[in-house]
Amino acid sequence: MLLHDTKARAVVPIVPARAGFLSIYACGPTVYRDAHVGNMRTFLLPDLIRRAAEAEGLQVRLVQNITDVGHMADDTGLGAGEGADDSRGSIDEGQGDGEDKILAQAAREGRGALAVARAYEDAFHRDLALLNIYPADEYPRASESIPLMIELITTLMESGHAYIGGDGSVFFDARSFPQYGELSGNKLDQLRPGHRFVDEVTDSKRFHADWALWKKAGATRTQLVWDTPWGAGFPGWHTECSAMSLHFLGDTIDIHTGGIDLRFPHHEDERAQSNCVTGSEVVSHWVHGEHLLFEGRKMSKSTGNVVLVSDVIARGFDPLSLRLCFMSNRYRQQLNLTWEAISAADSTIRRWRDRVALWATGPSAALSADHLEAMKAAFADDLDTPRAITVLRELEKDPVISDGSKLETFLAADRLFGLDLARDIGKAPAVVAITPEATELLDQRRLARAEKQWARSDELRDALATLGFVVTDSADGQVVAPL
Ligand code: AMP
Ligand code: ZN
Repeated sequence: MLLHDTKARAVVPIVPARAGFLSIYACGPTVYRDAHVGNMRTFLLPDLIRRAAEAEGLQVRLVQNITDVGHMADDTGLGAGEGADDSRGSIDEGQGDGEDKILAQAAREGRGALAVARAYEDAFHRDLALLNIYPADEYPRASESIPLMIELITTLMESGHAYIGGDGSVFFDARSFPQYGELSGNKLDQLRPGHRFVDEVTDSKRFHADWALWKKAGATRTQLVWDTPWGAGFPGWHTECSAMSLHFLGDTIDIHTGGIDLRFPHHEDERAQSNCVTGSEVVSHWVHGEHLLFEGRKMSKSTGNVVLVSDVIARGFDPLSLRLCFMSNRYRQQLNLTWEAISAADSTIRRWRDRVALWATGPSAALSADHLEAMKAAFADDLDTPRAITVLRELEKDPVISDGSKLETFLAADRLFGLDLARDIGKAPAVVAITPEATELLDQRRLARAEKQWARSDELRDALATLGFVVTDSADGQVVAPL
């Protein structure tokens, strides 16, 4: 399998450290709000890698962390992925009052911090399931991994990579890791005064690019505080990922994933921590997914442009249409998602399920190995999912291949795609042969309904009637019958 490695800045072959096994650490959610569809695109990435690897016969072990402490709101007031890329140990963070995303949300909701965190963690698992993302083998929580983090920080202090700053927080000494910057390109000598970090140089830390591994808690912080040999406080965000990935996956991790914004500083800092603890290169390959835009705009609360999986369902679309939209684009390219694209993907999935159900009523036949191999090869080629989908579409239309063979190939391919294509098998196959004109009108009507254009939807119903079709609306979408 080939993947783009951020550090190598190239597409490289993935050779697991242990033959036959692939270990993946995926940066998980900060559980202070529902994940938006942009986050979901990033969470799909390890699932696609897993499916591609399993198709090659590898056994995958995937660990994804749950951040329920220590992720600080950034200085613009937006969450990570909404403009933020930083959780650096500033003085304010060092004091640790009110800026932890979980605590801020707990205050807004008038609930305890862990109650809030668990509620959004549950929502995260529900969203993963709706997108057919296989569960990870472990979901360690930061708040339950504090002893691991204390151990990690102690090791870093003993080996001279960390020190207690003037404010009582523990900082990583960035200059003690000469390879700093290799991942993101942000070398220390380029992070010069004039950069925003310059404001953060204080008595607390020795160098502007040092960051807090452990933050001393201020007097007003009463939740998510732990005692340590160096005083009461809470972990810096980057600390958890080093501690948990080393603990659950060991000193050599084949692949580490996350959204592109995590490349710096989160992953740069994590790499420094982990490599300094082990004395070796811990992560073999860093794989980052590009961001998602929605209707041309960045997904952020401040622009009111946050779309959730539940919003997609509320408009009557199958949530797996999101999955198909994501796979219709390469993970390394920015994707501008639109309601129109979701609607089109929804129609495609329904059509494929109808076809599969229909084909399943006839005799089965050996699958088309050429098509299946072409789809596996596309997945293995740096997750060229758009190419794999093109192959599936070609197979659908192929005039030579029998329906029974198409059926078996679609079912086998769905282990890669995860679109639940077998869902309608056994349900009464559609008896209506819908004409292309009617299909076009149905698509337009689905879109009109998604946009709540009821008058337009009624007009289209009338137009369909003139073509001889009656359309009704059910929870599963439009149902067509001969008039
Ligand atoms: P968070 O829950 O804020 O820690 O983010 C979870 C993941 O979503 C991180 O890996 C981010 O890089 C990623 N992410 C944030 N915004 C977007 C976006 N618009 N498109 C794709 N991924 C994103
Ligand atoms: Zn992380």
